[in-house]
Amino acid sequence: MSKIVVANWKMNPQSQKEAEVLLNALSKETKNAKNTKIIICPPFPFLYISKKIKSKKVILGAQNVGKDTEGSHTGEVSSSMLSSLGARYVIVGHSERRTDGEDNKIINQKLLNLLKSKLSPILCVGERNRDKEGEYLSFVGEQIKECLSGVSKSQMANIIIAYEPIWAIGSGSIREATREEFMEMKIYIKKIISDIYGAKIAHSMIILYGGSVNPLNAGTFVSDDGADGLLVGRDSLNPKKFSAIINAIKD
Ligand code: PEP
Repeated sequence: MSKIVVANWKMNPQSQKEAEVLLNALSKETKNAKNTKIIICPPFPFLYISKKIKSKKVILGAQNVGKDTEGSHTGEVSSSMLSSLGARYVIVGHSERRTDGEDNKIINQKLLNLLKSKLSPILCVGERNRDKEGEYLSFVGEQIKECLSGVSKSQMANIIIAYEPIWAIGSGSIREATREEFMEMKIYIKKIISDIYGAKIAHSMIILYGGSVNPLNAGTFVSDDGADGLLVGRDSLNPKKFSAIINAIKD
């Protein structure tokens, strides 16, 4: 199965010109990527660059969506708007948005709106800390159950889950997760999905790892039936490193 690598540019870069330069460099560096789907998620103002994507391997995604579908919601963006701009995937529930006050209920609403607009949500889940008692497992389990509330069996085929432990994300992270930590969570997530939707859907569920992914650790997460792909923050802003990550997970 082909792997998925999501580039989350966050609030970078600072100008239209730099965004175009970055997109061109990423497309060029990844043009030989085999069996890999690359989803680039720029900030909203730069979504127009979908028109400039030349590589068939690169697909446009967005980093967020409003919880409402239209109307008097100043500063918000709807799923239909994203769809009309060419986005196919949308990140929801990123920990940086959860820190800004988004809860599972809001994320669920966003996710349902995306599905209605035929967009694929990339649902981020992950614990803030790991405790010895294993409470972090049920914390992530609750995130999944609440965020997927009302999602039908047939809609599940359009959803990607990204496990991103908060302690592993960004420049302030303690460290990246280990493969074992990821695998434990992957099995747990599949069990939660299986309990709700059955074993077949759980088996085909796409689960990514995110959190300080770099060219050195990327292969560890993905090899031997590990993650179905990766969600990359910092290193997606560096075309050479991003391309090295793609190369590291090549079959
Ligand atoms: C992220 O923000 O989702 C992320 C994984 O960032 P980083 O790769 O910088 O840890």
